[in-house]
Amino acid sequence: MIELVHLQRQFQSIKDEIIPQIEAVIDSGHYILGPNVRLLEAEAAIYLGVKHAVGVANGTDALVLTLDACGIGPGDEVITTPFTFFASAEAISRVGAVPVFVDIDEQTYNLDVERLEEAITERTKAIIPVHLFGQPADMKEIMDIAKRHGLLVIEDACQAFGAEYHGMRAGSIGHAACFSFFPTKNLGTVGDGGLITTNDDQLAERIRQLRHHGSKKKYYHERIGYNSRLDELHAAILRVCLRKLDGWNAERRRLAARYNERLSGHSHLHLPQEAKGRKHIYHLYCLESAKRDEMLRVLQQAGVQSAVYYPLPLHLQEAYRHLGSQWGDYPVAEQKSQRLFAVPLSPFLKEEEQDVVIRVLREAEGGPEH
Ligand SMILES: *Cc1c(COP(=O)(O)O)cnc(C)c1O
Repeated sequence: MIELVHLQRQFQSIKDEIIPQIEAVIDSGHYILGPNVRLLEAEAAIYLGVKHAVGVANGTDALVLTLDACGIGPGDEVITTPFTFFASAEAISRVGAVPVFVDIDEQTYNLDVERLEEAITERTKAIIPVHLFGQPADMKEIMDIAKRHGLLVIEDACQAFGAEYHGMRAGSIGHAACFSFFPTKNLGTVGDGGLITTNDDQLAERIRQLRHHGSKKKYYHERIGYNSRLDELHAAILRVCLRKLDGWNAERRRLAARYNERLSGHSHLHLPQEAKGRKHIYHLYCLESAKRDEMLRVLQQAGVQSAVYYPLPLHLQEAYRHLGSQWGDYPVAEQKSQRLFAVPLSPFLKEEEQDVVIRVLREAEGGPEH
């Protein structure tokens, strides 16, 4: 079986480096909000080019705490994409606000900035662009629109640690940004974790309070908060992984380019496009086919794992039935949900394995066009 991702290989490759770090945490007696969290926050802030980075329990909490710290709640609307992992919208609902969806761009699968303004109402407070599959959204246009309408921009950068937009890191452009350290993300740990970045001192301070029961001074609570902290153990592991990240992302890009080169000219496959000024870091390598079901079947028969991201756009989810959306409301997202599929890609995919995937995909649609 050729797996979609290779987490065992990844952690095996750095086991010798992380085991002593885990031992050091155990020996230190300091397990919550200790030196590893502080150091990871400092190192991540430097890497991303931001003033503040705050570790939290997971990427979903990163979004919830950021929205809460921005004062967004009941009566407010937040614009996001219907073509993302559920958590992007779930966090908006969790704080009592309403997600308002805007359809996606055909090529990048990110928010379609041409349609953004028509979704803005007097209740709109923020926009959450998602850097889907590791490719940054049109941040300049989004920031310009937000500025014109007095809105906050919270980047959902959960799939994009290390991605770039015109030389700036994803997660350094909006008013705040949220990252996930879920194992499969480009920068992931062996459990859950998350991070919030911002250049706003007060916002960072509020988020630090919120993650720790609304408290700055032990047993004195200024606001109702959460228990949402990044563990010392995960921070220690992530510090090792952060040092590897550029190499891992470069390998993802190399393998993605290899797919693009060897699969191009096959008329039934539409390959991922890197938009101008973007550095896509291929959290997932997703391609499109009008005959997706057949592709998935052929891949499975050949022992190649594949997956569909995402089979049902958020406006059609049972949980959002109350919003009253129906099939046809976001046609691009709907079409992509029927065409896109991911094939194996990670820094630990072997070229021999990739060659098998390439051969199966080429044969599935009957060889080169010319
Ligand atoms: C993974 C992910 C999240 C949620 O992160 P968790 O750490 O799993 O809570 C949110 N948004 C997007 C786009 C994601 O890919």
